[in-house]
Amino acid sequence: MSLGENIAKVKANIEAAARAAGRDPGSITLVAATKTQTSDTIRAAIAAGITACGENRVQELTAHLDDDAYEGASLHFIGHLQTNKVKYVVGRVDLIHSVSSEKLLRAIDAQAEKIGVVQDILLEVNLAGEESKSGFSPNQVPEMASLAANMTHVNLRGLMCIPPRAQYLGENFRFFENLHQLAVDIRTKIVDNKTDNGILSMGMSDDYPDAIRAGATHIRVGTALFGPRPPLPGST
Ligand SMILES: *Cc1c(COP(=O)(O)O)cnc(C)c1O
Repeated sequence: MSLGENIAKVKANIEAAARAAGRDPGSITLVAATKTQTSDTIRAAIAAGITACGENRVQELTAHLDDDAYEGASLHFIGHLQTNKVKYVVGRVDLIHSVSSEKLLRAIDAQAEKIGVVQDILLEVNLAGEESKSGFSPNQVPEMASLAANMTHVNLRGLMCIPPRAQYLGENFRFFENLHQLAVDIRTKIVDNKTDNGILSMGMSDDYPDAIRAGATHIRVGTALFGPRPPLPGST
């Protein structure tokens, strides 16, 4: 299938999952996970109706920005971010989904202050306690949410998770429900009277209908749009 057909199919699935859950399909943002894609493919995706792009790696982000490849879409950073690379990301993307440690949170706030911006962020939660994945454990989230809410140069917009890869539909629903519940639990902490903080970034190619059923506002989809990609070291 062509890119345009894949996009249409994913959008139709989003619409169906939203309607089945009694939700407005317009409340769900499809973030195209563009890792390993070329600038031309990204431009083609945007021309075919993609409105948000998510990058994993600083190197690819920088190269595509130099090419103006994201023109016409919002830009999200969704991959593991090293503290020493925040300067390449802060102020250049609309939302950082993957804030996974206190050290990184502080580095983002400091860099945002340095360049005079307020950076929108999400906290990444490691719901399954997987050793191989970064993110806060659920019981660390309230404290980190208060810390972020009190920072002057980050704006905490919500939570993100990357559960284990689903083998079948329905398998990850409980993780998505957990993230939703966690967001509800800390809402009093993350209400910091700046802006809307109801973002739930969850769901990928194999499980986004479950994420939508559990309240996702942002789904991050790569393979279902662009087809299988070659494995990359450090990618998920
Ligand atoms: C690659 C990636 C995705 C998309 O994964 P697919 O299974 O290809 O849809 C979503 N989120 C993150 C953080 C990713 O790295």
